[in-house]
Amino acid sequence: MGDRPALSGLYGPKQPLPVLVEPLGGESTGSFVNRLAHGQGLHLDQLLTRVGFGQASRDPQRVRAYPQLTEMYVNALGLEYLATLCGLSVQTLQEALPSLEQRHLLPEGEEAVWKWPWAPREGHLVPLCSGCGLLRGVTESVWMISPGRWRMCARHLEWTDDHRSSKPVTVSLEGVPETVSAQQQRETLQQEFGSVGGQLFADAFQVAVYCWTCLPDAERWVQRAGSVGLEAFSVRAAPLVVLPEAAQLAKRMVAFERLGERDRSLREKWLAGVRRDMAAWGVDADVGIEPLRQWLSHHREQPAQLGPQDSHAGGSTGPVRLPGSHEFHAQSVWDLGELSCLPWQLGQPACEM
Ligand SMILES: [Zn+2]
Repeated sequence: MGDRPALSGLYGPKQPLPVLVEPLGGESTGSFVNRLAHGQGLHLDQLLTRVGFGQASRDPQRVRAYPQLTEMYVNALGLEYLATLCGLSVQTLQEALPSLEQRHLLPEGEEAVWKWPWAPREGHLVPLCSGCGLLRGVTESVWMISPGRWRMCARHLEWTDDHRSSKPVTVSLEGVPETVSAQQQRETLQQEFGSVGGQLFADAFQVAVYCWTCLPDAERWVQRAGSVGLEAFSVRAAPLVVLPEAAQLAKRMVAFERLGERDRSLREKWLAGVRRDMAAWGVDADVGIEPLRQWLSHHREQPAQLGPQDSHAGGSTGPVRLPGSHEFHAQSVWDLGELSCLPWQLGQPACEM
């Protein structure tokens, strides 16, 4: 950006830092700047002080407590400085780091601005799978701006989440192949049915969360938590332990949405099938049926059409939308609680659900 006003030329950094560090696609800006500092043999706060990184330099303790707590935002001039420092174009940086996208830039001014709010404005800070980091030659932790609260790497069987302070940082999924395949089923549903597939999976997950909250001592859930080294009954373990049941229920929900007729007897027949599933999970179906009735009340009308997505047609029917309380999201949302028409949150007490 050579034709920027003279300001950046006057005050900003003139040349790249000696050691080049590559940003990883989807990485948080704070994580990248942290690695950039380490690449030079500096602590993050030392780097920030030397290059005059605005407010960040005034609060070294907070910055040192990074990167699991805070994300870094810049204005346009700050972005230019950063690009010069790391020897990359502004465009390359913006393409790699989600929080540098145009819509996240701080208001323009005559000075470069860097800010570190306590939480990312969008998404969640979740570590990158360590195996995937190693493949890119990175040995330290990399924090991603993740649309959901956890990430699963099916290649390295690693689970990471946004639980900041608790150990372990990463969880091995070797003992729970059913959780890995549940996540793959989620992706398949999304490929087959687009956003509707994702929403139905989210609904199924919410029902499973409800069941887990009321009955966390179901044997299979306790066992799964144990086999990945997480505490049974812990909210952190919950998504990982209920995912297989959520995947099974999601299939049932897709089947329901595809029923032509939805009279009372078909609904009852469908419910009876789910009750049998729940009994097999070790969950009292009289408890589990409660959120399902809520779900059914939101899904009275049939979607316009729910068939496999037609990837080549221009789409004369438009995207399939579920009726009821499913909001339309302009940005890609991958957080199950936000996608669902069932309003509770994992971690809420059962009496508030
Ligand atoms: Zn991996």
